[in-house]
Amino acid sequence: MVNEAVGYARAHCEVDCLHLWLSDSTNNFCECDSCSKLTPSDWYTGLVRAVAARVKKEKLSTRIVFLCYTNTLSPPESEKFSTESDRLIYMFAPISRCYSHPLLDPSCSGRGQAGGWPRNMVQPPRTNAEFVRIRRSWLRAFPGDSFAFEYYLWQPFLRYMNPLGFARLINSDVKGLAAIKLNGMMSCQALRAFYPTGLPMAALAETLWDAQVDLDRIVQEHLQTCFGVNHRFAREYLEGVDSLLRSGELNPHVALLQSGDAEKALELGRYASASAAKMEALRPSNDREERYLSLLKHFNRLLDLRSKASVLKAQGKEEEAAKSVAEASQFLRETERLTHRYLDTWLMLRSIKP
Ligand SMILES: [Zn+2]
Ligand SMILES: [Zn+2]
Repeated sequence: MVNEAVGYARAHCEVDCLHLWLSDSTNNFCECDSCSKLTPSDWYTGLVRAVAARVKKEKLSTRIVFLCYTNTLSPPESEKFSTESDRLIYMFAPISRCYSHPLLDPSCSGRGQAGGWPRNMVQPPRTNAEFVRIRRSWLRAFPGDSFAFEYYLWQPFLRYMNPLGFARLINSDVKGLAAIKLNGMMSCQALRAFYPTGLPMAALAETLWDAQVDLDRIVQEHLQTCFGVNHRFAREYLEGVDSLLRSGELNPHVALLQSGDAEKALELGRYASASAAKMEALRPSNDREERYLSLLKHFNRLLDLRSKASVLKAQGKEEEAAKSVAEASQFLRETERLTHRYLDTWLMLRSIKP
């Protein structure tokens, strides 16, 4: 395996960072006596160290990226990083984290562990304080170059449906990266992540470029560009959505639409209905403004349909909730001509179950 990875690096000098990951499955390690001698992280660290040492010896410019993910949340116990470290980059991928709170919010903690699981019994935490502890314990094992691998614009954004909330979350998280010695971020996301606006993408790009950037300015400029004469309405509407979608007491670490909070979902539905009427009265002044207003109307309609499904689900009416989800799915399929450049419909269809 080491020969294979080094051979690839040798043949592909255009690849500056070569990622060497374990499988995407969890808790699938052999339990025989020989394999049980070391933890999965120790076996893995041994491998990436060997590859990096060979890459260094052969004076290749490739750097090997290794991954802290479900199987390797705990740092190695016996294996120690050494002079090959300058050819390695650590990647921190907290896939099961909470998106209701910033990564560094210490109040976002739960019953999950930050390590110490027996072999093949890893249960990744769902809250952020545990992930920060995981990051810090890896940092003691490997103090070298490191970055975050985050999933905001994969399913999480589509589950939360909160453009302003995600812009704020991303801005806050990126500003906090340096505090846990992460030097940047790779975004694991759909390419079509501009529904109904590009706000989360704008916050991600601008804050990665300059951590001192003012979020309010990003929001202001972005909405002005999209909505022109109607930018104040758009801001007010999205702020209303944001305040209603903030997770409640009931289940604070999951998206409101999936938290089982019937009362808040009902309120959201009422807000969407009232907003639909207001949007109909708006007059865009050019094609661009009209396009973004159409996307905003579409988003608002979907929010309405999804809030209905959430209410029914929270009331235990499974069959009716499923019908509501089917109605939302039908709406998404029928309107793909409008949304396809901005939204990955397939991914949204996977994300809308309450
Ligand atoms: Zn074995
Ligand atoms: Zn949380």
